[in-house]
Formats: sequence, C-alpha cells, structure tokens
Amino acid sequence: MSYYNHMNDQPDKRLKCSSCGKPFNYTISDGSMSGEHDWAPIVCPWCGSHNGKVHGGATISVWTSKIE
Ligand SMILES: [Zn+2]
Repeated sequence: MSYYNHMNDQPDKRLKCSSCGKPFNYTISDGSMSGEHDWAPIVCPWCGSHNGKVHGGATISVWTSKIE
C-alpha cells in the first residue's frame, strides 16, 4: 500500500461556526465530480453561514456534518 497518490482521504476536521457558535465537522473531498472550482466554501450545517473556504489543487467539495 502506497499513500503517494492518495492525498484525498483526509480526516474530518472540527470547526466552530463563527456565526451561531455551534460545532460541526467538515471533510474535504478532493477531485469530486460535483466540484466546479479549486476551492469550496465551508458552510455551517446549522445556520448556513460561510466559515471561510478551502483551497485545493483540483476540483474539491466540502462536506459538513453537525456535531450534536
Ligand atoms: Zn452556524
């Protein structure tokens, strides 16, 4: 098993919304078919506020999930 070309499996990252203060995880999906840019906004799953954005080398998507 080589990890040389497998940089797209990144662990979940935890963030606290700057708008509503609730915690959530976000995962970066590199090379996603649904991605249109080499960056994607981090959108709070609770209130929909943007919490910055993530840059990648190819088309990426950012998935967020609530931390109950
Ligand atoms: Zn929020």
